Amino acid sequence: MIITMQLGATQEQIDAVVEAITVHGLQTLVMPGEDRTAIGIPSAIGSDLRSTLESVIGALEGVNKITQTSRPYKLASIEFHREKTIVEVKGVKIGESHFVVMGGPCSIESYEQFSQAANLVKEAGATVLRGGAFKPRTSPYAFQGLQEEGLKIMKQVGDETGLVTISEVMSGDMVPLVAKYVDILQIGARSMQNFPLLIEAGKSGKPVFLKRGPSATIDEFLLAAEYVLSQGNPNVILCERGVMPLDRSYTRNTLDLSIVPVLKEYTHLPVIIDPSHGTGVARYVAPMAKAAVVAGADGVMIEMHPNPKKALSDGSQALTPEQFVQLMQELLRLVKFVESTSS
Ligand code: PEP
Ligand code: MN
Repeated sequence: MIITMQLGATQEQIDAVVEAITVHGLQTLVMPGEDRTAIGIPSAIGSDLRSTLESVIGALEGVNKITQTSRPYKLASIEFHREKTIVEVKGVKIGESHFVVMGGPCSIESYEQFSQAANLVKEAGATVLRGGAFKPRTSPYAFQGLQEEGLKIMKQVGDETGLVTISEVMSGDMVPLVAKYVDILQIGARSMQNFPLLIEAGKSGKPVFLKRGPSATIDEFLLAAEYVLSQGNPNVILCERGVMPLDRSYTRNTLDLSIVPVLKEYTHLPVIIDPSHGTGVARYVAPMAKAAVVAGADGVMIEMHPNPKKALSDGSQALTPEQFVQLMQELLRLVKFVESTSS
């Protein structure tokens, strides 16, 4: 249940609604919006209590509307937070009408490799630099990333280029270390339901880039976001990176582009598409990145390597610098075109 207060409702009126709910032993979530406050009840309520609450709260002053929602997430819900969230990092805006491109290699391999990639990303016009230092690899024998050394390289290159940086953190106890070096904490698909990690990332105060798990439903995805939001951290960015495919002999994952309009309808959080992990094949990245723009995504995350054949991870899905530059140009044109056609 979500109670929306009238414009200009007073603090006393808000407190009275909260009191009418908490006397029943229920928790409340109070969300001050730009012009009106919403009060949510996050737990499920039985039908008798629901009708009691509806009549009691409906009669209170300052109440505009009571909405029943069957969705289990609240803070992530658009009903709760009417204005779209725009996450701002070092002057870069991520969210509604601020299309962003996040580019860079799968892994940070050396200062030279990463600095070269970063300069290409910057020259191409992208604003966020990606690169993994702690890599979640399917095999324990595969390259695990340069770890803290990689984070130091990211920090240095971020400072040199002025790009916003993003890197993955794999466990709750590593959050302070990764947060020391990077601007945005990435939570990988395999960690989407690592609840202690979500809580620590929420507490860090850094923006959190949350990737959808390969078999997560939309409710599960938004409830994972809710974990971060419920720590008082409003800066959550959602990323679709492909779900379990029916046929892995063609693509690594199935990029679920239909999630974009769905998320746009149900949540206020920015939505980014990752066509690199979504397809796993470099030649399929550009068409799907362009499709993401048309679907209404707020940005894309693209893997690019100065020399994909030599990449220590995910070389087969990495664009070459030339392909990245060309895609950037096409995306910028397409974003303008899509903006000009939407009413
Ligand atoms: C990555 O971004 O390099 C990565 C490991 O992504 P995902 O968690 O989506 O597999
Ligand atoms: Mn990768």
